[in-house]
Amino acid sequence: MISLSGLHKSYITGQNRLHVLKGINLEIEKGEMVSIMGSSGSGKSTLLNIIGILDNYDEGEYKLNGKLVRGLTETQAARYRNDMIGFVFQSFNLIPFKNAVENVALPLYYKKINRKKRNMMAMEYLERMGLKEWADHTPNEMSGGQKQRLAIARSLIARPAVILADEPTGALDSKTSYEVMEVLQEINKEGITMLIVTHEKDISEMTDRIIRLNDGLIEYSNGIKKKNVKKMVTA
Ligand code: ADP
Ligand code: MG
Repeated sequence: MISLSGLHKSYITGQNRLHVLKGINLEIEKGEMVSIMGSSGSGKSTLLNIIGILDNYDEGEYKLNGKLVRGLTETQAARYRNDMIGFVFQSFNLIPFKNAVENVALPLYYKKINRKKRNMMAMEYLERMGLKEWADHTPNEMSGGQKQRLAIARSLIARPAVILADEPTGALDSKTSYEVMEVLQEINKEGITMLIVTHEKDISEMTDRIIRLNDGLIEYSNGIKKKNVKKMVTA
């Protein structure tokens, strides 16, 4: 599903060049749930942003679902992203002046689905996340765990093949963190490939495989745990 080989990325600011990714090789199969660990500044978010087609890379190859991701126009990248990838962030990235239904429905707006259908689908995902009663509330009326479940509902609504989560539990207490991770595990069991950046060991242990980034390279990647992945319903 995700295939990286010899991937390099540098940031250039003024006279300085910061070589962040120094030849990343990584294969993630469809349906895997993988965590990426590494100290602060080791390049975890950089890697996730490249995988999410939010940023470019300099050298090497990135294939998503067999398709080479390189030199895409903004429009092509956006379309591919909207079709394939859902994002979850530490800071939730919800729109404060929109209510829960509107926040969840937003990705469908970009897919030009009409408002009635958008809101109907958004309600289904809110219900799935146990947030039906919160449909009319804005994010600032909700707890951290509720906000993250709202963000997860939004990441799911366009039926992505992959969910990328950058420290999804970073702003939550440990009980709420486990609850959010359990939600992500449930989603993964339905066949959605999941990549989670975290620096918390107990969170990474709730995934099937742990990848460690160190000095721009993957230092450690443990084996894949066997599990039953429900067959995805293919239309
Ligand atoms: P992590 O998520 O592991 O903490 P990041 O991928 O955010 O690490 O950052 C890796 C390194 O790249 C850090 O030293 C950071 O300061 C630097 N960096 C990240 N984004 C940029 C950018 N847009 N421009 C310049 N440097 C950046
Ligand atoms: Mg980061």
